[in-house]
Amino acid sequence: MCGIIGYVGKRDGLSILLKGLERLEYRGYDSSGIAILQNKTIKYVKKAGKVEELKSSLKQSPLMGKVGIAHTRWATHGEPNDINSHPHLDITGKIALVHNGIIENYQDLKKILYEENINCVSDTDSEVLVQLISLIYNKSNKLSFQDSVRAALKEVVGAYGIVVICSDFPEMVISARMGSPLVLGLGDDEYFIASDASPIIEHTRDVIYLDDGEMAVVNDNKYYISNINSKKIISKVVDSIDLSIQEIEKGEFSHFMLKEIFDQKHSITDTMRGRLNFKDGTTFLGGIIDQIESIKSASRIYITACGTSWHAGLIGKHLIEYYARIPVHVEYASEFRYRNAIIDNDTVLLAISQSGETADTLAAIKKGKNKGALVLGICNVVGSSISRVTDAGIYTHAGPEIGVASTKAFTAQVTVLIMLALKLGRKMGIAKTKGKKIIQSLNKISKDVAYILNSYEDIKKVAEKTSKAENFLYLGRGINFPVALEGALKLKEISYIHAEGYPAAEMKHGPIALIDEKMPVVILAPHDNTFLKILSNIQEVKSRKGIIITITDRPNSELTNLSDYVLIVPKTHQHVFPITSSIILQILAFELALLKGCNVDKPRNLAKSVTVE
Ligand code: GLU
Repeated sequence: MCGIIGYVGKRDGLSILLKGLERLEYRGYDSSGIAILQNKTIKYVKKAGKVEELKSSLKQSPLMGKVGIAHTRWATHGEPNDINSHPHLDITGKIALVHNGIIENYQDLKKILYEENINCVSDTDSEVLVQLISLIYNKSNKLSFQDSVRAALKEVVGAYGIVVICSDFPEMVISARMGSPLVLGLGDDEYFIASDASPIIEHTRDVIYLDDGEMAVVNDNKYYISNINSKKIISKVVDSIDLSIQEIEKGEFSHFMLKEIFDQKHSITDTMRGRLNFKDGTTFLGGIIDQIESIKSASRIYITACGTSWHAGLIGKHLIEYYARIPVHVEYASEFRYRNAIIDNDTVLLAISQSGETADTLAAIKKGKNKGALVLGICNVVGSSISRVTDAGIYTHAGPEIGVASTKAFTAQVTVLIMLALKLGRKMGIAKTKGKKIIQSLNKISKDVAYILNSYEDIKKVAEKTSKAENFLYLGRGINFPVALEGALKLKEISYIHAEGYPAAEMKHGPIALIDEKMPVVILAPHDNTFLKILSNIQEVKSRKGIIITITDRPNSELTNLSDYVLIVPKTHQHVFPITSSIILQILAFELALLKGCNVDKPRNLAKSVTVE
């Protein structure tokens, strides 16, 4: 949440920072702002609303300079107005700061500032930090600017990724991280520091990922990284980013979400590339090969995640218990981190996160590690914090996901979970033929996805017929109950239509009271061992005059008679159906959101990559 970027070099800072903000905007779009060192003074512009608003203001009063910082905000403390926008300046106007995270003790720090006659002008938690840096720097003639930043950070309780500039040092940019991601880009006589690599890749491929507790100082065309507290210099590996500009642009598509839905034609295959073992009906998962024996002998697995990844985790539970017979508990990371869960050396903690930066999931990982669990990760972003703090893991390789509502990352996560469950299952002795069966279905998935995308117009028609509905119900059984949850979440996120996912049979214990002739009910009805039961559930909806939309894997006259609309995915393995059917639900949500005139890629109040608690 929130994107930050800093630049120091020889080029026009404004255009680099503005372009960078556009790339980072998916992380937050409540407001944005830029501060630039212009003739040794800090000039800034900040505006509520999208980066577009900032751009218009800057047209009237452009900023000139080669050193600057910028921010696109997802507000936590203080409403999204101009004053609360970042960068925040200290009372002398000589120091500017952008911040991602939450300073939890900001009220205490405010009191200290107040006693020194320093009043904050904004309602944010972030401003106290720049005022504190300023207080320390101006009060103590012994401390350098860098050390004043360190001293202020030592007082902070909470999470931060910050970038700071000071007009006394017109060639210097300081950044530091504790809990919120930062990447340092090393160009030719120029440096970039950003929340992620997306604004950096068009300038350089060489990056350094900062870790918690580290500070990067760039000054006079040199940089060094040190421990914030001990000041000890840290030598870091320079990574090369393997990401193309096309991957982070919309191309011919109207929306990132639509592009990412269509990407699934190849992204699921990318997730499986080199990982299917056709001969032995199993999978190759190099990232966790050394951990297989420990997982096999684990007494329990906790899957921890948030949002869509949590839904993938629920599917993972079905799969791992089905194939490997190891007990799996699926936990919201935000709950798990504070709960007294039973974690010991026989526990495996599997964390799932698209960005690999989700704050709650990172905290859950820390807890698991401290209590002796083997910690594994499934994430999409290579080099992300989760991929670095886990003992081992599996990348989803779905390519960058920019649309705030997750699509291809979800299907990639489920694909990885199938491969993991199968790997464990084969090691635990399930038959090769059983393994081969699911691999055959996985192997034809691109064709299945292409078939679904070709039926786009049919799905769109269902959206058109139901777009006036104010509520939707999604039903599924077994492994498809999490698919129902995910379908409902997608709809809520981007169309603001209220939706609930429910286990189909559980409906009669409550939500059935909501069903009337205005309620569309989306029902996942594959021909698996629950099919007859699902038919009964559909009858129950029909009796209450609900609008029935079924998703199934082959035509069936009884289903057709009962349903108002039937959408079909190609016949597949029962454990692959959650992947293909969820693509229909993504398209349905997307079209409903468009019909309602919603901003699909920037849904209100949401942002990608939740890096705050
Ligand atoms: N807490 C800060 C604010 O509300 C930063 C929020 C963020 O990280 O997006 O301005």
